[in-house]
Amino acid sequence: MSRNRVIRCAACAGRIKPHHPHIGVEDLETGVEFSYHARASCQKRCVEETVTRLEAGKVFAAHHYHSSTCADEAPGFGCAGGCFDTPMAVAN
Ligand SMILES: [Zn+2]
Ligand SMILES: [Zn+2]
Repeated sequence: MSRNRVIRCAACAGRIKPHHPHIGVEDLETGVEFSYHARASCQKRCVEETVTRLEAGKVFAAHHYHSSTCADEAPGFGCAGGCFDTPMAVAN
């Protein structure tokens, strides 16, 4: 996959700058990756949509892309750079 492609948020359709923190949900069957902003509202949509896709029998891998200025190598939330300071809550 090209690193220069424009990434758009699947929740709000806004552009995601590659050096900004964001979440990728990759469909392991097709290799298609859905991207979402790290902000809470987009994360919520991410969870809801992923649950819907999981119920459809799809298999996903979630990727956490840290900000380019973030020193934290470990993927996930609560990182040292504050990329994902809002934990991804399970949709109620
Ligand atoms: Zn968004
Ligand atoms: Zn980070």
